[in-house]
Amino acid sequence: MLEIKDLHVSAGDKEILRGLSLHVGTGEIHVILGSNGSGKSTLMNVILGHPKYQITGGEIFFDGEDLTTLKTFERARRGIFLSFQNPEEIPGITVENMLRTAKQSITGDKIKVLAFHKELLALMKELQIAPEYASRYMNVGFSGGEKKRNEILQLLTLKPKLALLDETDSGLDVDAVEIVSRGVAKFHNAENSCVIITHNAQILKHLPVNRAHIFLNGRIVQSGGAELVNAVAEHGYAPFEVES
Ligand code: ADP
Ligand code: MG
Repeated sequence: MLEIKDLHVSAGDKEILRGLSLHVGTGEIHVILGSNGSGKSTLMNVILGHPKYQITGGEIFFDGEDLTTLKTFERARRGIFLSFQNPEEIPGITVENMLRTAKQSITGDKIKVLAFHKELLALMKELQIAPEYASRYMNVGFSGGEKKRNEILQLLTLKPKLALLDETDSGLDVDAVEIVSRGVAKFHNAENSCVIITHNAQILKHLPVNRAHIFLNGRIVQSGGAELVNAVAEHGYAPFEVES
């Protein structure tokens, strides 16, 4: 589904990604573990085409199509979703309006207001988000945990093919991480894929992880199975440091 080959990315004159390769197959869940500042969020932003970053080498393919020529909204329409590490507040646009409009513009279908409202409330209940949040402005005055649960609400509403989750569990209490983990498990099936950036094995509890990658200094230095998650929890990143 996603094929990244020898990707080099800069912001200004700073090189952030330095020869990154990643292959995510359909139905797979991948975990990316890596120290702060190693370039994980940059990778997510580049997959969606953030204009702050320049690709100076390598390729990104999604379902066999070169992504780098597409605008961000076209990438979203192809089925790529990013849950932000720091979700933006959008004053003046309610959660319900934003989600219905997003779904409409991604699918190209007219969405029925009442049916959508019912579906949204059912999902909110599962994610333990109070119903009045549907009519609040997007993320405005939300706590950190509420913003993250709201990202999972978007995920379950938009049902993308590829979900990129950038530290969706960071800053959450154990119960909230549990809700997020169950939300991602509800989303995941054999036709879609997830790339999860995390520092915490707890979010993976309900998820069958296929591959884990250690990401240091702008590239993946080691890949393996879910056991890498425990290795990092126990020994940190020092055993994975390589000469650069
Ligand atoms: P991570 O998500 O792994 O913590 P980031 O991708 O956020 O790391 O950042 C990687 C490095 O690139 C950091 O040193 C950060 O300061 C730098 N960086 C990220 N975006 C920019 C930018 N737009 N301009 C300059 N430096 C940036
Ligand atoms: Mg980050």
